[in-house]
Amino acid sequence: MTAPSTVFETMDAVDGLPDEGDFEQVAFCHHRPSGLRAIVAIHSTVLGPALGGTRFWPYDTEGEALTDVCRLARGMTYKHAAAGLDQGGGKAVIWGDPRTIRSEALIRAYGRFVHGLAGRYLTAEDVGTTQADMDLIQRETPHVTGVSPSLGGSGDPSPATAWGVLWALRAAAEVRWGSPDLADRHITVSGVGKVGRALVDHLVDEGATVTVADIRDDAVRAVHDDHPEAATRLRTVEPEAAHAVDCDVFAPCALGAVLDERTIPELRCEVVVGSANNQLATPEDDQRLVDRDVLYVPDYVANAGGVINIAEEPAGYDQARAWARIAGIHDTVLAVLERARTQGMPPGEAADRHAEDRIESVARVARLRTGRP
Ligand code: NAD
Repeated sequence: MTAPSTVFETMDAVDGLPDEGDFEQVAFCHHRPSGLRAIVAIHSTVLGPALGGTRFWPYDTEGEALTDVCRLARGMTYKHAAAGLDQGGGKAVIWGDPRTIRSEALIRAYGRFVHGLAGRYLTAEDVGTTQADMDLIQRETPHVTGVSPSLGGSGDPSPATAWGVLWALRAAAEVRWGSPDLADRHITVSGVGKVGRALVDHLVDEGATVTVADIRDDAVRAVHDDHPEAATRLRTVEPEAAHAVDCDVFAPCALGAVLDERTIPELRCEVVVGSANNQLATPEDDQRLVDRDVLYVPDYVANAGGVINIAEEPAGYDQARAWARIAGIHDTVLAVLERARTQGMPPGEAADRHAEDRIESVARVARLRTGRP
């Protein structure tokens, strides 16, 4: 195996790293016998080891893989900082089609590559990788999270993510309506997959009226089948009309970029909070929501439950402790929205400033001499 930081043979085809000065380390691995080609981007370890999933994806070009891994790694720095975690931001990609090139040797070679980074990067599951892959990686390195519960892992993060979105929603309700109570609120959940479905369970328990949408009919049917007791409070809408439902809260729990120039003017809710990543199509959409008087809870603050859960693993996973910590998303949302209000900026920008302030203040602490050599 080539050492970390040895570039692929084709690396000279890439026109420089995106904002390269901004990254602590970008490591490349090419292991010919298994066919592994991987990139790990470590954006920041100021708060702790860089944590972030491994995306296994058939990018068209190496440059595309590099751009994606850097963009995602930077996002993790902000997410972890805002969530109050002692984790930095990183991400990895394995370049190739998991359906054709995944093998025990390739995943284990990747585990060895991660081990070579000496704990500066902790990996996890992401699009294209599975819990079984994490279990294999653990045979090569301890620097992995999201392994099977039987191996000490925290399991599927989706219930934890949904729990965090619920707390974000309560905080937003407090800010908007003066009470965290969700009974009698009407919430539209778009996307009832792993997170959305768990969120609906909570909302039904809270006494809310819930409208659900999904491109999969069976997913919608399953939600109705799960809650015969709430039949009069459960409705369905076509996915393309979900954002325009006349309701209190729109909760995007499917794809990103759902809030844009076209959909924002059509919103008929007062609050947007959901689990989907990258909900704003462009940075300008942050202000567009303010102009429509819609309270937006920044996605990476609302959906941090999964990473907070995973970050509990190295200390020995305990669900009660993890879930108590996830409930802290409530206070983070209040702090971010208060900053947005007092400093006159849109919430997405306020979340970024909140995260940057924490990184900077912890960096200052790290400059204090402790007497250790
Ligand atoms: P999932 O694949 O289990 O569920 C997504 C659901 O959305 C599916 O049922 C799918 O059919 C549906 N869908 C797809 N396109 C749609 C559309 N146009 N309109 C309505 N529904 C549509 O995924 P998930 O794990 O539940 O994650 C949902 C979102 O939350 C994703 O954006 C994901 O990146 C984000 N997220 C998830 C977690 C987690 O712990 N799973 C953590 C952080 C963020």
